[in-house]
Parts: sequence; C-alpha cells; structure tokens
Amino acid sequence: MIDTSTSQSPVLQVAGLAKSFGGIQAVLDVSFSAREGQTTGLIGPNGAGKSTVLEVVSGFLKPDHGVIRFAGQEIQSWPAFRISRLGLMRTFQLSKEWPTLTVMENMLAAAVDAGRDKIWRALLTPGKLRTAELADRVKARELLASFGLFDLRDDPAGSLSGGQKRLLEFARVAIANPRMVLLDEPLAGVNPVMAERVLGSIRIFSERGIGVLLVEHNMAVIESLCSSVIVMAAGRKIAEGTMEQLRSNPEVTDAYLGKVVPDA
Ligand code: ADP
Ligand code: MG
Repeated sequence: MIDTSTSQSPVLQVAGLAKSFGGIQAVLDVSFSAREGQTTGLIGPNGAGKSTVLEVVSGFLKPDHGVIRFAGQEIQSWPAFRISRLGLMRTFQLSKEWPTLTVMENMLAAAVDAGRDKIWRALLTPGKLRTAELADRVKARELLASFGLFDLRDDPAGSLSGGQKRLLEFARVAIANPRMVLLDEPLAGVNPVMAERVLGSIRIFSERGIGVLLVEHNMAVIESLCSSVIVMAAGRKIAEGTMEQLRSNPEVTDAYLGKVVPDA
C-alpha cells in the first residue's frame, strides 16, 4: 500500500502530556501524533493510562501539563464540546442512543447536533431547512447502509442488540463529519460474531478519510487495523511503531506483549 499522507503533518499532535489523580500519576510525559485516514493503536496493560489519554485529548479531563494540537489549534484548555465541533470526537464504552426514537431518527438527531449553525441559517430561509433535512436523510441512509443497519432504520434504537447499538453509535459519530474519532475498547462486551462487524466498521472510518485512535486489548484486532501503534505502561509511552517492530522490542515484550501473545 502506498502511503500518500506522510507529506502532511499529523492532524493530532500531543506533546508532554501529564495527568495525575491525587497521588496517582496516571499519565506522564506522553507525546505522540496520529493521522487522518489512518488507525493508530494505543495499547498497554490495565492501568497504563490509555483511557486517561483519551479523556484528556477529548477535553473531558484537563491535563496537568502538555500541549495538544488538533487541526492547527492548541486545544488543551478547550471544553469538550468545542473540541468535538473542531472534529475530534470520542465514543463511549456505553452507547447513548435515544431508545424510543427509531434508528433513522437517532441519525437525524445526531446530524442536527453536528450542523447546528447550518440549521439556524436555514431557519431564516424556510425552503433551505427542507433541503438541509433532505441532505441529512440521504447521508443518514448512506451511513446506515455502510454500517449494516439500513434494514433496522425504522426500529426503535432501544430494541437493538449491544453490538448493533455500537454500530449505531459509530454511524452517529460519522454523520457529524469528524476528522478523528477516539475509540476506547469498542469490542468490549460485544459477542464474537458481532465483533467482526464492529471491526469492519472501524475500517469504514479510515476509508472515509477519518482518523481513528483505537484503544483495544485484542492484539489481532490492533494488528489488522493499525498502521502505527503506541505502547504505554505505568503512565508512560514506552514504544511506538508497527506491530512487527514492537514484537522485536524487548521493553514491549517484557511490559506487555510477552504476557498476552501466548493466549491470544
Ligand atoms: P487504562 O485505560 O490503561 O487501563 P486508566 O487511564 O483508566 O488506564 O488509568 C490509569 C491510572 O489512573 C490507574 O491507576 C487508574 O486507577 C487511575 N485513574 C484513572 N481514572 C481515575 C480517576 N478518575 N480517579 C482516580 N484515579 C484514576
Ligand atoms: Mg481503559
């Protein structure tokens, strides 16, 4: 595969990130970058600080130190809602769909959220509101088809299985036109058959040019999706590279891979 993106600077650049909780240094001096249209893995043992990195990068927690640049802006002091409007979006381990609304209505609600300015402009010229609504509907149908939920579009979202809810969450994030999404263990609690579909859906983001920062403990999943992988242990970044490079890095195999590869 020819990598055409290396000439552009990475959309996300994190430098010297630190975050502690009371006496616990959850993240210390972590620097990395991630590109649009690629899936970057973030791995490490439990308690390594992976989720804290995602929470700080998405603005849900403020860092103690460090600079976070996204799409040319310094965002480390921005509130989460403003960061998501800039196109850096987090999904949660628990899906937050509206259970009584249909799958399609959930998509349209997410589109309205994302295009608030567009909607207000359109309200001043009612003809345009209908056009905006139609455009959202077309996009929603296209995304539901991509994520394999089209046949369920008229079902209440509350009736979906756990795995289907995760797919809907992805589709709702995608309709908001992010540049990068942060996924924290998206396969957790999903049955093995559905996990295949969720995995395929993570690929849809990169196919659409969206960057993904993926925390996942299943190494086979990381290997199949990620061009570059960051390894954390005890709050620090200990290595970075392709899975092939990491496998021959003794620090990584000691800290982590050595423990999980045998039973993977
Ligand atoms: P990971 O996602 O890699 O398992 P976390 O980022 O969740 O690791 O946690 C890193 C460390 O920070 C752990 O020691 C954890 O107990 C601690 N920690 C995480 N969140 C909090 C919090 N809100 N309050 C106190 N300690 C926390
Ligand atoms: Mg975690």
